[in-house]
Order: sequence, then C-alpha cells, then structure tokens
Amino acid sequence: MAATRTFSIIKPDATRRNLTGAVTKMLEDAGLRVIASKRIQMTREQADGFYAVHKERPFFGELVEFMISGPVVVQVLEGEDAVARNRKVMGATNPADADEGTIRKAYAESIEANSVHGSDSEENAKIEIDFFFDEDEIVG
Ligand code: ATP
Ligand code: MG
Repeated sequence: MAATRTFSIIKPDATRRNLTGAVTKMLEDAGLRVIASKRIQMTREQADGFYAVHKERPFFGELVEFMISGPVVVQVLEGEDAVARNRKVMGATNPADADEGTIRKAYAESIEANSVHGSDSEENAKIEIDFFFDEDEIVG
C-alpha cells in the first residue's frame, strides 16, 4: 500500500509541558514520518477557520481560546494508511476512554486539552495540510 499523508497538531497543553519531542517520538514509533513541521502561535482567525465544522458545538468558543492559549506544532505526517495509523496512536478524544499506549492516554489533561489533533479522513487531511502549509514547505 502506498504512503499517504495526514495532518497533526501538537496542542498548547503539550507544548506548554515541553512534550513536543515525546509526542513526536510516539508518532514516529507508530510508523509515521514527519515530512513538515513548524511551531506557530495560531491566530484567532486561523483557529476559527480550522474548527469551523464545530461552530455549532457548545464547546466551540472554549476550544478556540484553548488553541490560541500558547504555541502549537503543526505537522504533515506520512506513512502507510497515515490517517488511520495516526488516529490509532492518538487514542480516544476523551483521555478517560483512551487505550494504553496512546498519546492521549499518556499525556492528555482533559477532553479539551487532549494534546494532539489528527485529521479524520484523507479528504480533510488534504484540506488541513493546505490550510497551514505551502507545498514548498513539505520537503519529505
Ligand atoms: P481532533 O479533531 O482534535 O483530532 P477528535 O477528532 O478526537 O479530535 P472532535 O470531536 O473532532 O475530536 O473534537 C475536536 C476537538 O474539540 C477535540 O480534540 C477536543 O480538543 C475538543 N472537544 C471535543 N469534544 C469536547 C467536549 N465535549 N468538551 C470540550 N472540548 C471538546
Ligand atoms: Mg476531529
């Protein structure tokens, strides 16, 4: 099966606790390769746009505040079946439900401050990668 891409964010709760390397190691150990990476301070406009699908959810406002509360690391990951592979190593949205050996089980603080984002489909991965990266920033 050919390598595919997904999009990942190491969220502010993780960067705040100096866990960028620890989280990235779990991604790499799961068979994913970081082919682009940058640490950014997301703007409110970026966070609003990125989470636009959740606009009607009750937690939307808080989620945006959380995502701009500190730096994040946005990454493009490549690997066999990258979307599913990444979702598996991330674990369930709520860390209380996350399996042993997953990033959220190891590091998430709460259902909101859950350390990582990962695209939920190849279609959304492409949209999310294009949202944060120019093609010439993805160097393989
Ligand atoms: P992500 O999209 O970040 O990879 P996910 O697909 O597991 O996570 P979604 O349902 O898409 O979860 O929710 C997006 C994000 O919104 C979650 O990762 C979490 O940070 C936040 N969130 C989800 N549900 C809740 C909730 N009930 N209360 C507070 N925040 C929530
Ligand atoms: Mg999601």
